[in-house]
Amino acid sequence: MKLYFAECPYCFKINVGLYLDETDGNFECDRCGRESKVLQREKFILPKMIAGKHA
Ligand SMILES: [Zn+2]
Repeated sequence: MKLYFAECPYCFKINVGLYLDETDGNFECDRCGRESKVLQREKFILPKMIAGKHA
């Protein structure tokens, strides 16, 4: 399973460690709590380096 990161369109917080495959691109921002949908998921694949850092 791939981890992704995505920028919240409301508060611009970068949310990391998202399982967008499971949620069909939806995620809840961990700063403002709003739900967003990532449209261009390919751009947001989390590099292994960052994934390890936040694991
Ligand atoms: Zn947010």
